Amino acid sequence: MYIRIGQGFYMVGGGDAGPGISSYKDCNVYLVADGGQAVLFDAGSGLDTGRILENIREAGVEPSQIQYLFITHCHGDHAGGVQDMKRALPCLEVVASAKEAKLMEAGTERMLGLAAAKIKGAYPADYVFRHQKADRIVEHREVFRISGMEVEAIVVPGHSIESVCYQMDFKGRRYLFSGDSVYKNGALSLQNCYGSSLERYRKYLPRLAGRGIDALIPAHFGFTLTNGQAHIEKALAYLESSALPPMV
Ligand SMILES: [Zn+2]
Repeated sequence: MYIRIGQGFYMVGGGDAGPGISSYKDCNVYLVADGGQAVLFDAGSGLDTGRILENIREAGVEPSQIQYLFITHCHGDHAGGVQDMKRALPCLEVVASAKEAKLMEAGTERMLGLAAAKIKGAYPADYVFRHQKADRIVEHREVFRISGMEVEAIVVPGHSIESVCYQMDFKGRRYLFSGDSVYKNGALSLQNCYGSSLERYRKYLPRLAGRGIDALIPAHFGFTLTNGQAHIEKALAYLESSALPPMV
């Protein structure tokens, strides 16, 4: 199962809080393919990585064409599947920010936010985050060029210790893969666990201001292909007010 969003652009994973095309815990997983090369945004939970790989094949893309796996942050639903992906695709370059990469490689359940999420009931008690070393540490404003895609990393701590949003210019449209940092209608995601901070949201979310984003593509819930920047500016306006911003 997969959803074709545009030419070369597919949703290939997404659980209960998304389209229900892969394991129930998976965040939305996006695939962009062009000229025999492809990139993937986030890896899902690792509960059924085989399903995501199958979805990629169903979309007509051979998983071995995927050059980069861009990780937004290392909560289980986004990065728990990285180890499986890497085992299936040894040539894949797993890209993460320095602090998130540290968590991905050796973070405790507390530091991964997993202990608190289990208490909340968001993960089964026996869920295990399988650690994996990143292949490449991404810096703020680093740019990747892959066939017709240009991807810029924007480091936005707030939802997690060092979340990354990825801006992508592709076929005349500007996308923002925003992970859990910002959603439609300016909603944010602050959590009561290690790494999440409203103060850092205030400090770093302005890095997303005025970027002319067409498509806002978060890792859960809905996306929009037009006027994405207006949703982001809404979030920035909320952060100016003393009232707590809307949270998902
Ligand atoms: Zn998260």
